[in-house]
Amino acid sequence: MKIVIASGKGGTGKTFVATNLYAVAETSEPSLCIVDCDAEEPNLSEYLNGTLLQCETLNQKLPLINAEECTFCGACKEACTYNAIIMIPETGIIEVMEDLCHDCGVCSYVCPSAAIHEIDKPIGKICSMDLGNHHRMIETRTYLGTSSPVPVIKKGIQAAKDYALCLMDAPPGISCPFIASVESADYVVLVTEPTPFGWNDLKLSIETLQNMHINFGVIINRAGLGNNDIKEWLNEQQYTCLGEIPFRRDLAECYSSGRIPSREMPEISSLFTGLMHSIYSDIKRKQS
Ligand code: SF4
Ligand code: SF4
Repeated sequence: MKIVIASGKGGTGKTFVATNLYAVAETSEPSLCIVDCDAEEPNLSEYLNGTLLQCETLNQKLPLINAEECTFCGACKEACTYNAIIMIPETGIIEVMEDLCHDCGVCSYVCPSAAIHEIDKPIGKICSMDLGNHHRMIETRTYLGTSSPVPVIKKGIQAAKDYALCLMDAPPGISCPFIASVESADYVVLVTEPTPFGWNDLKLSIETLQNMHINFGVIINRAGLGNNDIKEWLNEQQYTCLGEIPFRRDLAECYSSGRIPSREMPEISSLFTGLMHSIYSDIKRKQS
């Protein structure tokens, strides 16, 4: 079971929800893994202390063009969908712009002169940490200068495939890293906040998930901060509102000092246990 915790807008409390759901699941789920899919800014390890087991570096195949062997036929430049090849025959220049290259391999495939060879370029790493009781955390992390975290995210998700329950903390937004995180999900928990920005980005996330035919439910974080418009809208649209998390200073203080409120406050633990049950019920209802 893969449950992704996501939000269109950054800063809505997605990681807060993911870590608290983990904290309530760890007491009842024997086969549990949490994956930090926010590969450009992973931070789960600031809340969940684990013992590092291993790290694996992920490489991208980067084409290298030998100008001596190139006949400047232009086939590679024409075939590259990402416009990553620059070619100036008059000056004998032909090069791949690393930041634009998406590692598709088409240029070397179409080159009639075998002038293109591929080399490995490290783009990130996947680290596995033991959280105790056979629970695992997988952290995806891209290196500085890497144009897309997608391959690193996909590899991280693959590394968690053997666990019965996998919680995944998705990157913010709805671009490629988000898509890579949710495409294999059984269910997505969308975390929003009662502000106009939160509502706007929630609508975009919902539209994206509907296009992908992925089931979802919504948690309203910082309830009480704004008005009830989002909750009423969810009801009108018949979207599942899984529950609300109150806007409270003590919660913010606990979390901002690197602690998980569900582990320290019984009423917050009950709240997240209830949210977990609502998630399971909604999954069951929508799968039947
Ligand atoms: S590998 Fe693909 S994206 Fe990269 S330069 Fe070649 S054709 Fe373009
Ligand atoms: S396809 Fe090969 S020969 Fe043609 S321009 Fe590209 S590198 Fe040169």
